[in-house]
Amino acid sequence: MTAPLDRSATWPYEDGKPGRFSYARADHPAGVACEEALGALDGGHALLYPSGMGAVTTVVLTMLRAGDTIALAEGAYYGHRVLFDHLAPWGVRVVEFDQTGSPPAAVDLVLVEAPANPLLTMPDLEATAAHPAPVVCDATVASPLRLRPLEHGCDVVLHSATKVLAGHDDVVAGVTVTRSRELHDRLHLTRRLAGIVASPDAAWLVQRGLETLGPRLDVQEASARVLAARLAEHPAVQTVRYPGFSFLISFDVADGEAAGRVERAVATIENATSLGGIRSKLEARHRWEGDRIPQGLLRLSVGLEDNEVLWADLEHALGNA
Ligand SMILES: *Cc1c(COP(=O)(O)O)cnc(C)c1O
Repeated sequence: MTAPLDRSATWPYEDGKPGRFSYARADHPAGVACEEALGALDGGHALLYPSGMGAVTTVVLTMLRAGDTIALAEGAYYGHRVLFDHLAPWGVRVVEFDQTGSPPAAVDLVLVEAPANPLLTMPDLEATAAHPAPVVCDATVASPLRLRPLEHGCDVVLHSATKVLAGHDDVVAGVTVTRSRELHDRLHLTRRLAGIVASPDAAWLVQRGLETLGPRLDVQEASARVLAARLAEHPAVQTVRYPGFSFLISFDVADGEAAGRVERAVATIENATSLGGIRSKLEARHRWEGDRIPQGLLRLSVGLEDNEVLWADLEHALGNA
């Protein structure tokens, strides 16, 4: 049966007192149901937000004070760096480090990404967990079905639920999961006071996506493995990055012009941003990330389409490289 969707913003008091639900900025039934499913997947207490960036913002407002420094994995999702720079007037400082080794000493929060998007390095979670500062792991690309960072000593797992968790490119949402009840309650307080809350409709769509997460990921991953191996053999492709699991590949062609020609030539694969959805997407990332990545880097998110159809599309497009 499909879960009912209660869009109420407010619920009657029970005997003059607020019941489990009273005002939707604090909690609502669709949100709580979705959080239970997300918490079970990652092994902790989940909170839902209106976007992945809303989740990061809530983490920063809750876990840092003015003057504190975040150690951010080099090559992690570019939006994190842009947000932290934007928050500089509030005293947020950031240093970048190579996440395949230990985080720098004397920082107040560590943010790693597993695997980093789009360079697809994996963090050394053992070295990171040994650091005294709290550790946040953005595991959007791995998903909880391939990595459960809380089991590796991370304090907070973060996901853009917009991506593979929801999976259909029809909702923007974010998640944090923590083992500590105390930290969960502090994040919840920030979320409620600041109003960084996902709508019931968004929660309902994320939860519907979770019902097919396993089979979607299995098919997308099997297809990505084949495509990564074939791309590595293609004469127009210089470098292929694929972590060996999940749906995301990045590869380099000769230069920015060649990348532009390839992205405009794909047909089945959409030339669009985002990742993790059921429809494959390809884009040159230089337009967003500038010189932190190679000019010819193309990011491919593999969807559910027939693998041979995807390869034919790529082969044709690479003919223009
Ligand atoms: C998309 C993305 C985000 C940001 O999430 P939004 O839902 O777009 O706000 C954060 N981290 C990673 C790895 C992402 O891919």
